[in-house]
Amino acid sequence: MAKMFINGQWADALSGQTYEVKNPANGALVDTAPMAGKEDVEAAINAAQAAFSRWADTSPDDRAAILRKGIQAVEAHAQEIAALLTAEQGKPLFEASGELHHFLHGMEFYAGLASKIRGAQVPLPPALGKHAYGLVLKRPVGVCVGIVPWNFPLTLMGTKVGPALIAGNPIIIKPARTTPLATLKIIGLLNEAGLPPGVLQGVTGAGSAVGETLICHPAVRRVALTGSSETGRRVMELAGPEFKRITLELGGSDPCIVCPDANVKRAVSGIVVGRYWNAGQQCLAVKRLYLFEEIYDQFMEGLLEKVGNYRVGDGSTKPEKPFIRMGPLHTAYQREEIEDQLADAVSRGAQVLIGGKRPDDPALALSGGHFIEPAVVANTPEDGKLATEEVFGPVLPVWKVKSLDEAIRKANASQWGLGSSIWTQNMSWANRAAREIQAGVTWVNQIHYGYDELPFGGVKASGVGHEHGPEAVDYYLENKGVVFGGLDWE
Ligand code: NAD
Repeated sequence: MAKMFINGQWADALSGQTYEVKNPANGALVDTAPMAGKEDVEAAINAAQAAFSRWADTSPDDRAAILRKGIQAVEAHAQEIAALLTAEQGKPLFEASGELHHFLHGMEFYAGLASKIRGAQVPLPPALGKHAYGLVLKRPVGVCVGIVPWNFPLTLMGTKVGPALIAGNPIIIKPARTTPLATLKIIGLLNEAGLPPGVLQGVTGAGSAVGETLICHPAVRRVALTGSSETGRRVMELAGPEFKRITLELGGSDPCIVCPDANVKRAVSGIVVGRYWNAGQQCLAVKRLYLFEEIYDQFMEGLLEKVGNYRVGDGSTKPEKPFIRMGPLHTAYQREEIEDQLADAVSRGAQVLIGGKRPDDPALALSGGHFIEPAVVANTPEDGKLATEEVFGPVLPVWKVKSLDEAIRKANASQWGLGSSIWTQNMSWANRAAREIQAGVTWVNQIHYGYDELPFGGVKASGVGHEHGPEAVDYYLENKGVVFGGLDWE
């Protein structure tokens, strides 16, 4: 049975309650996890409060050294952690290993920044005395909470833990109910590397209960959520009245434009990964594809060939033979939602050009896994669910466009503004896309990928604030002004 990590120790829920974590590829029990209640959350927050001043006073070099020791410990358990992530999340082993690698890279990035946080010295006008100056001190915000979704449990924990810890804050992580296991393993290893008790903790259970209790506790000063826009609204509602610092990394419906001068072969390869990685369950994914009519046929030929070669299955075996390119959807609900969005499109005249069905292979059909074949859809109504809702699965709706004006107008006709991309050799078109598409990121001739080095966050219903990059650290610090008056009063 998995345990939470509270105040430097592995812990069951005080109530003794647990819940089951199931494998999305076959419905088998992977493990049980504690179902935390208010009293467990209270214990974690008390421990975090007690740890705060000691951690804030730990030197940046020492914080970084502990983090680096933790990174080494996680690396030493990489295979075990990747296998655990595959079992609880469903992604094939090669994707789970890739996610762990990304997590470690991000943690290393933040360990490197620990000693580089800088405030400022500011000369002040002489009206109240000559030689007065100000300092801008960077102070840690206090007890932080990181609420993480199930699609990338490790990287999205890292985007919170890394900046929170190097800025001198304790942080409590609440993983998604369905993906607590690899997360808890990592939290344990990072603690064993020398974090003082209460600095990094993991509490498991339902979002509505554990998450809301964490957010509402008066001692919590900072909440970082990655999740759906609906949950983001709820978090804002709860955190707002107490003026808590928040960042919300929410849903998206990223548009991608392929221009007549694009390198079509590369665009096809990038867009296939950009849509079907993690079985399409990505915030940053090509979710609406706009193809100029000049390259439509050539692009579609390449796209359908690549998608047709995708093999869907249980990616937990190594070596993966035959090579499983895509795992199951994470839950039965996810698959039903995708099927509903597809049915809506088809009932209104769209054509599913490939995929979109549950696999015929009896071994998969009878496995209890939530498998679905990757799909490409043409002639989707622009007010249909595939265009207006977030499509969190392996379905790609494709439209023809005649001009860049039309493509950008359609790209912006969405409630979301997370990622976006354009494939072109034309610098002025790339510049227009970068300036005019309403999104947190625009990739030019690139896969939708969240670099640790660059700030990342959405506009419109995709969220508030940024993670990644040095910019993320600012959200875990308060700027305190200090004035040193001049010494020439007499
Ligand atoms: P979700 O909103 O259902 O859950 C996210 C987390 O919030 C989970 O830990 C959940 O337990 C918790 N939660 C749920 N209700 C809560 C509440 N009332 N109070 C506090 N916590 C609560 O999202 P999901 O289904 O796990 O993840 C998919 C969504 O996340 C998609 O919309 C996706 O686009 C988005 N996402 C965004 C980014 C980004 O960086 N912008 C990255 C990954 C995923």
